[in-house]
Amino acid sequence: MKVLLVEDEVKLAQSLEKGLKAEGFAVDRAEDGLRGLEIALGCRHDAVILDVMLPFMDGFEVMTRIRQQRCKVPIILLTARGSLEDRIKGLDLGADDYLPKPFEFRELMARLRAVMRRPPSEPQLALRVADLELDVGRRELRRAGVVVPLRAKELALMELFMRRKGLVLSRSMILDHVWPSDSDYGDASNLVDVYVAQLRKKIDAGRDPKLLQTLRGIGYVLRDPA
Ligand code: CA
Repeated sequence: MKVLLVEDEVKLAQSLEKGLKAEGFAVDRAEDGLRGLEIALGCRHDAVILDVMLPFMDGFEVMTRIRQQRCKVPIILLTARGSLEDRIKGLDLGADDYLPKPFEFRELMARLRAVMRRPPSEPQLALRVADLELDVGRRELRRAGVVVPLRAKELALMELFMRRKGLVLSRSMILDHVWPSDSDYGDASNLVDVYVAQLRKKIDAGRDPKLLQTLRGIGYVLRDPA
């Protein structure tokens, strides 16, 4: 799952980025409104965390323009404490939620999870494919009822595969969703291969049927044999 963070307070942005990464999110960052808008309009993020007071273009304007482009990405606004007007304006303009500064990181996480599970096409909290079950809120994967311990990046990969079960995902598609856009990956396809191999070992080794399959030269697919 990929998040765009638009925040000009560098220290805050860095600490949020660190926290989000630890929770398994890929993070793209922008430090002013114009750049944030430019990145957001690619509409490739699962959520946007958007500060209101930003250089060049404020968060309200950024959000208005994102909505004008019919990009339905969930947006959480970071507003100044006590500014009721800002909050009402934000919600009127199409924010999914707002968070007054300063806030606790875990509160941001709770709201982020809430807005990300809100889209009508994906209302469920648990994703199921065959005997795999991913509890999205608790970040816990089970196969046949047994917990499979996964690291943050593996969880993000698993969630991507489960949300798109039966669909072939190319390496670049996987990179795009699970890793930040501006990373220097070195050999990117190799990186995806390594992570998918680790994930497969954890979910499929010693178990049948094999769910995570390779299509040589094309990509990967998580199949439900039923
Ligand atoms: Ca600011």
